[in-house]
Amino acid sequence: MAQSKRAIKYVYYFGGGKADGNESMKNLLGGKGANLAEMAGHAKLRLPVPPGFTITTEVCAHYYKDRKKYPASLERQVGIALAAVEKEMGKKFGNADNPLLVSVRSGARRSMPGMMETVLDIGLNDTTIKGVIAQSGDERFAYDAYRRLIMMYADVVMEKAGGIVPASGKGIRRVLDEKLEKIKKQQGYLFDTDLQVAELKLLVKDFKATVLKVLGKPFPEDPVEQLWGSVGAVFSSWMGKRAIEYRRIEKIPDEWGTAVNVQAMVFGNMGETSATGVAFTRNPGNGEKQFYGEYLLNAQGEDVVAGIRTPAPVNDYSKNEQSKHLPTLEEIMPEVYQALFKIQERLEKHYRDMQDIEFTIEKGKLYMLQCRVGKRNGIAAVQMASDMFLEKLIDGKSALLRVAPSQLVELLLPMLDPEVQKVTRPIAKGLPAGPGGARGRVVFSSDDAVLWAGKGEKVILVREETSPEDVDGMHKAEAILTTKGGMTSHAALVARGWGKCCIVGCADIEIHAETKSFKANDGTFIKEGDWLSLDGTKGLVYPGSMALVDTDLNKNQAYKILMKLVDKYKVMGVRTNAETPGDAAQGLQFGAEGIGLFRTEHMFYGEGSDQPLFLLRKMIVSKTEKERRVALNELFKYVKKDIKQTLLTMGGLPVTMRLLDPPLHEFVPHDSEKLQQLSKELGISMSILKRRVLALHENNPMLGHRGVRLGISYPEITEMQIRAIFEATAEILKSGKKALPEIMVPVTCAASELIHQKAIVTKVYKEVCEKTGLKKIPYRFGTMIEIPRAALMAAEMAEVADFFSFGTNDLTQMSFGFSRDDIGGFLPIYLDQKLLPDDPFQTIDQEGVGELIRFGTERGRLTRPALKVGICGEHGGDPESVKFCHRLGLNYVSCSPFRVPIARLAAAQAALEFPAS
Ligand code: PEP
Ligand code: MG
Repeated sequence: MAQSKRAIKYVYYFGGGKADGNESMKNLLGGKGANLAEMAGHAKLRLPVPPGFTITTEVCAHYYKDRKKYPASLERQVGIALAAVEKEMGKKFGNADNPLLVSVRSGARRSMPGMMETVLDIGLNDTTIKGVIAQSGDERFAYDAYRRLIMMYADVVMEKAGGIVPASGKGIRRVLDEKLEKIKKQQGYLFDTDLQVAELKLLVKDFKATVLKVLGKPFPEDPVEQLWGSVGAVFSSWMGKRAIEYRRIEKIPDEWGTAVNVQAMVFGNMGETSATGVAFTRNPGNGEKQFYGEYLLNAQGEDVVAGIRTPAPVNDYSKNEQSKHLPTLEEIMPEVYQALFKIQERLEKHYRDMQDIEFTIEKGKLYMLQCRVGKRNGIAAVQMASDMFLEKLIDGKSALLRVAPSQLVELLLPMLDPEVQKVTRPIAKGLPAGPGGARGRVVFSSDDAVLWAGKGEKVILVREETSPEDVDGMHKAEAILTTKGGMTSHAALVARGWGKCCIVGCADIEIHAETKSFKANDGTFIKEGDWLSLDGTKGLVYPGSMALVDTDLNKNQAYKILMKLVDKYKVMGVRTNAETPGDAAQGLQFGAEGIGLFRTEHMFYGEGSDQPLFLLRKMIVSKTEKERRVALNELFKYVKKDIKQTLLTMGGLPVTMRLLDPPLHEFVPHDSEKLQQLSKELGISMSILKRRVLALHENNPMLGHRGVRLGISYPEITEMQIRAIFEATAEILKSGKKALPEIMVPVTCAASELIHQKAIVTKVYKEVCEKTGLKKIPYRFGTMIEIPRAALMAAEMAEVADFFSFGTNDLTQMSFGFSRDDIGGFLPIYLDQKLLPDDPFQTIDQEGVGELIRFGTERGRLTRPALKVGICGEHGGDPESVKFCHRLGLNYVSCSPFRVPIARLAAAQAALEFPAS
């Protein structure tokens, strides 16, 4: 059978109420081209879009595959489309009397702002300019357009796309710009618009001569050559350094290519009845349903971007401090404003989302140049999603997908005032460990933080790194800044748990402990007591005290509506990690469905911990079981109280209590006063005590005597904790309330360890039942999976465990062999050189660590189909990792209280994006 001879369609026309393409064709026409077609041609819109055509992304692919050559039929297709544009405009490209001018712009599938090239006013030359003067009746305007074309063309097409690297390091645009500035200076002009016709004429002549001299080629007079030169330059800019780099960051594939949009020029710079502007169908800063925008009279789009003149507000609502004295568009062109207002309403209704639009007014006539879904901050995103849902513009599922989970952070924490931030230069940058903003006076030790805070001062604790001994000061500080450590270092973990602003690994500053000061790389010197402001969301450090803007979730109706939708669609559970009963309450308020990790050892840190900590230390340095049991008996009541309070707070929701985990040496005192006290209490000499402390030293504590190993070496430690759990639960049950403890054994690697611990649990369970007269105390017994071997042995582990909780912090550490406290030294290099796509301590490494989770879950459930599986590492609050856990069919994720809403939204989105088959 004969092959169809019909050529592939490479060119799509739009204009005059018609369009070959539409909004759904973004892959082929790029975002800009698809939306221009939709605005121009959709039966419900047919907006005043200057006519034009889009050359498809397929041509870009062809161009790169075929040594920068175009498909054979392209020239003919462009010719036909250009003729249609001429007909619609009633002008002719290259015609001396009535010339058509066009713009050439890029337009990729996804917007890449400023990364590719644009050429305007194409078609102007020494002949056609006469026609432009006749059409516009404005000689000055025509010559201004001409000098702009020469400048842009020389820069974009002749120099950049031509591969010319300026010998002096100074590009042709700079060279030409300097000439323009020189005249302005000589004449004492402030703005480009002050230049007179005679000066512009001279400038055009001078520009042409300079182009020939510097680039060795004349500026082409032929409009067709200008057009194809510009099209080629836009395709070339797809492979420009800037664009490649941007794509790499944004993960946009090189194969996508860009489309090219050729469009009839309309002019916002044809005098005082012309203007150009940008607007949003709703306020992108706070989400209010108010038309919001800016315009510049007598200007072209590039003037708005250049930011030389202050744009005026389109209406009263859009006024700000800089623009409040300027006349609004509504005032000076009421009819045009009304037309624009109606169009924006129609656009939003049509696209069912907030639109960012560009418009031009040429001699009182309005044209739409672009529309696209507008970017917005987190607060606005939530407001708009909820409003549009209530307005029935979108359904609940769409509302949920409109908010990026990470955007919720902005609603939860106070932030540095973004307006102030815009005009202040940061002095240093580190890792954004705890989001939100904070300000305070700098202190360099935990004790000073406690002291100063006690006097009512707001402080920022600056340390090289933090340890459990610093917790009190960290808690009292507004924020924490460390020069070392990664995203799961002690400081990061603790701060995030509290929802506290924190920056870690800030290598841009050097601390001088002896003078209580630090110096930033930029030379800024900060001493104790100086004010500092931190943006923990971006990891930026600012000098001085910056204003904060507060957020109160309970007052945010939009947030509440969104979270109701979250609960409707979410499948996977979200629990909170809690270190204290206070954390539990916070997590509950944010919607946690239980506690996935209660790190019991945290009762030994911070406020009110003196006595339990002393008793713990006594237990640690005990030599015999007898000595240890004495200390444990004394400790018992504190542990039980903490557990009971937490169970009560959670009101019958599951609470996963992890048995003691940390390396014991972390709790050993180092100051002599505390050692003296201990030696007296134990009735042993200081030298014996010091020997015992020394014996606790480990070369590699992370892989040392921790987790279940403690409970195996000292079963009485496990026994005490289990007794506290069961007795606390029994007391609650007897008072008529509910409690559901889950006992979790940490750092296991073999089923035999679990069998060992389970025997203690069974024994104590019986004893407590007998003591309290209860027939049954509900509980579950399970394990953390933090060691790769544990994941591999999941089938056996599940014979003993009712549940698994993947401790992805340690599982990542032990799978990669990367110390979670020391990655600051090498991880940035890995990320820089793209050896790893992300920090594996922040986002689960799905291919490696993720496989262990998948394997462990599958094997575990083969043994015990009802096995409950969750994760409780830091990844439980990372949206990508949460979605991954949903796909694996996990029962829940557990994360720090302040990340619970983020995880809930991510879980709901995952349920919509990956519905159960
Ligand atoms: C983990 O390892 O993932 C975990 C939750 O435990 P921790 O961070 O306390 O070691
Ligand atoms: Mg762990």
